[in-house]
Amino acid sequence: MPWEFRATCPECSHEWEALTYTEWIGSATSDTPVRRFFCPDCTTHVSIATDFDRASFQNWLRGHQHYLTASGFLAHNIGLIVAICDSTPGYLLPLDTLWSQLHCPPCDTPLVEGSMDAHPVTCPNCGKCNAKSHGCHAHVSVLRDVDDQT
Ligand SMILES: [Zn+2]
Ligand SMILES: [Zn+2]
Repeated sequence: MPWEFRATCPECSHEWEALTYTEWIGSATSDTPVRRFFCPDCTTHVSIATDFDRASFQNWLRGHQHYLTASGFLAHNIGLIVAICDSTPGYLLPLDTLWSQLHCPPCDTPLVEGSMDAHPVTCPNCGKCNAKSHGCHAHVSVLRDVDDQT
């Protein structure tokens, strides 16, 4: 579900509204430990469950194969976990190497840990990454092709 947010750029005084999305990698239950990242250029957020072991990740992936074709953003970042899974013999997945590799392919931008509530975003007018979001003010109902079909 996208949220609408408003942001202003201190460099060029541009003010704009846009939508932000949160994607999930892993099951979203309230007691799942997650780390949250976002792309400062397109403000796509991703919440990643950190309690994956090999079996639970493969299980999750089987149920979310459509993610890999629906979104280049998800396909890339899920692919990083698949690579860890393939190169690690143990039961536990060493996700430590994952966090620094997360990337937004459409923007060609490394993801930043946290959310745009606390970090600057890129101004679409001047391109400087110093703009401040004023937070989300509306839930927007938009049909998306990446919507979870489960
Ligand atoms: Zn992006
Ligand atoms: Zn600007």
